[in-house]
Amino acid sequence: MLAYTYKEKGKFVLEEKEKPQLCEETDAIVRVTLASICSSDIHIKHGAVPRAVPGITVGHEMVGVVETVGNKVTKVKPGDRVTVNVETFCGECFFCKNGYVNNCTDKNGGWALGCRIDGGQAEYVRVPYADQGLNLIPGTVTDEEALLTGDVLATGFWAARISEIREEDTVVILGGGPTGICTLLCVMLKSPKQIILCEVDQERIAFIKKHYPKVLVVNPEETDVETFVKAHSDHGGADRVLEVAGGSQTFDLAWKVARPNGIVTIVALYEENQILPLPQMYGKNLIFKTGGVDGCDCDEILKLIEEKKIDTTPLITHTFSLKEIEKAYDIFENRKEQVIKIAIQP
Ligand SMILES: [Zn+2]
Ligand SMILES: [Zn+2]
Repeated sequence: MLAYTYKEKGKFVLEEKEKPQLCEETDAIVRVTLASICSSDIHIKHGAVPRAVPGITVGHEMVGVVETVGNKVTKVKPGDRVTVNVETFCGECFFCKNGYVNNCTDKNGGWALGCRIDGGQAEYVRVPYADQGLNLIPGTVTDEEALLTGDVLATGFWAARISEIREEDTVVILGGGPTGICTLLCVMLKSPKQIILCEVDQERIAFIKKHYPKVLVVNPEETDVETFVKAHSDHGGADRVLEVAGGSQTFDLAWKVARPNGIVTIVALYEENQILPLPQMYGKNLIFKTGGVDGCDCDEILKLIEEKKIDTTPLITHTFSLKEIEKAYDIFENRKEQVIKIAIQP
């Protein structure tokens, strides 16, 4: 089968590989029907993910049809349409039982697919702990509608959940990329009084204004964000801040725009250390919550998609066949053609 493979820093190659086989009784083999490219794939390509193993097939956001299952798999059967979770988790350890699946103690726990074990930018993928890692797609939901469930949408859903958003809140989201928009969609489900999204990219700003007109969009290159947030909130700052951008100054901005006793949720993955200036923020009494995602809400997310309460299809701006994946990466990595997300059809 064809599989897009991480060879070495800076080099991904589409190559012919053996079709994956069941290794454990809890595995499933899934025939991939649609996959997507994530910015984490680009991080791997740039050598910024030290635990990524050369030779692995990349891709960790995909949907497909179950081909075969191990003896101990009970939740799915061959022929079922499923989303695949970015995280691998056993469902049995202390962390899994408490919903902290990102910290599953299994050797493949956390983000393994398309990083430490073969992922889904391929025709087939082996999914460990299939009862945990696969979620059934409701019959009326298309592959395209379900595609982002296991990764960016799971991340946005988790971020909105742990931020404890209430209807009287002003919520600031920093970053309007794919994860930022998925976070926005999940924050909107909580119906806060005001949502302010902070983004610098003009194409992204235009996209958000067009699709989500009730959201206030602020560009820090044009407007002082602290002043803007103060003017649009009831208690001198945002009640909740969700930092999804991961830029060089966005952590600083995140705690500055929060009101005293607010919650600041860090979703972003930074490439460098960030400074927590405790003397400066003394008395602000902030609550920080830090990433990464506990991706265990996928059944609930799929139900919301089925009920048309979440729609991520506008984010999928391009579709390519697996054979054209080089071109797709070029567009995604270099942000050409107003790209947001790309779907890959094996
Ligand atoms: Zn990802
Ligand atoms: Zn576990």
